[in-house]
Amino acid sequence: MLPKGHAGLNMALTAPLVALYPGKLYDMQLWLFIATFIAASTWPDIDLRFETKHRGFTHTLAGALTFGLLTALLEGMLDQAYAPIGFLGGFLGTLGHMLGDLLTYTKFRPLWPLSGKKFGLGLYRADNPKLNNFFARIGPLLFTVAILYRELLPLQQILLSHY
Ligand SMILES: [Zn+2]
Repeated sequence: MLPKGHAGLNMALTAPLVALYPGKLYDMQLWLFIATFIAASTWPDIDLRFETKHRGFTHTLAGALTFGLLTALLEGMLDQAYAPIGFLGGFLGTLGHMLGDLLTYTKFRPLWPLSGKKFGLGLYRADNPKLNNFFARIGPLLFTVAILYRELLPLQQILLSHY
């Protein structure tokens, strides 16, 4: 998929987290995770800029772990307490990228090194405008709905408590 499709898909995936997060909506750890998770949605395609095989190492479990360790290192330098969230954001964000790529034609090995089996549902071309525009639109929409839900929920409880 294209960067906008990947960013939209990962954004959509964070919507349930925003809606159901047990802590406060303004928790720094939550937003650091969301920012890293959405940023990581485009990292695996860095292989397109180098003379390496596309959908190789960066599209594997090992690649996801590597991105997770890199973000743990970077965000851990800001504050050691951010390292675990940095890892989760980079690792899971890369898995989110692979989830999007699974819908397209070019097969890859998401489970490597655990398994060398190639996967790919072959439903769309990676640059399919409908697929990419769908995720680019649905991501911000679901994200906004999740934030509104969180913001309006206390309001509803206040209103109900008066009647
Ligand atoms: Zn990719």
